[in-house]
This record gives sequence, C-alpha cells and structure tokens, in this order.
Amino acid sequence: MNNNTTTVTCGQCRGQGTTVWNGNKTTCLGCQGSGNVRVAAPATLCGQCRGQGTVISQGKREQCGGCGGSGYFKG
Ligand SMILES: [Zn+2]
Ligand SMILES: [Zn+2]
Repeated sequence: MNNNTTTVTCGQCRGQGTTVWNGNKTTCLGCQGSGNVRVAAPATLCGQCRGQGTVISQGKREQCGGCGGSGYFKG
C-alpha cells in the first residue's frame, strides 16, 4: 500500500481558496476552497530491492531491510 500524499499550495488560486470568475469571487474548484491540494508524495525507489520490497538473502526471500518492505522511501 503506497498512498503517501503531501499537501501543496493550490496553483489555481495560489492558496487563496477563491478565484475571480466573471468579476465574482467564487470558491476555487481546484482545492474546493481550502487553498491546498493533496498530491502523491514523490517516492524514491529503494536501491536494495529495486522496489520489490523483498530481497533474496542466502537463497531465501526476505523483507528488504532498506525500505522495510515497502519498496520505496518516503519522499
Ligand atoms: Zn485553489
Ligand atoms: Zn527495499
């Protein structure tokens, strides 16, 4: 399960939460007025298991110690 997300400032309203549409201030559709949007966090592929989450150690498949079995490091 890799559902890491991070919050960034909404680019449509630049964090204001509102946009001007036809001269009227309206709730920004990009962030639903919150000023922030959630995006997938950049994940770094684990070099030890190459994203597999497991490694072969002495002929046995074991959970990768580098990433803890997730295959990725948190961005
Ligand atoms: Zn917005
Ligand atoms: Zn790993």
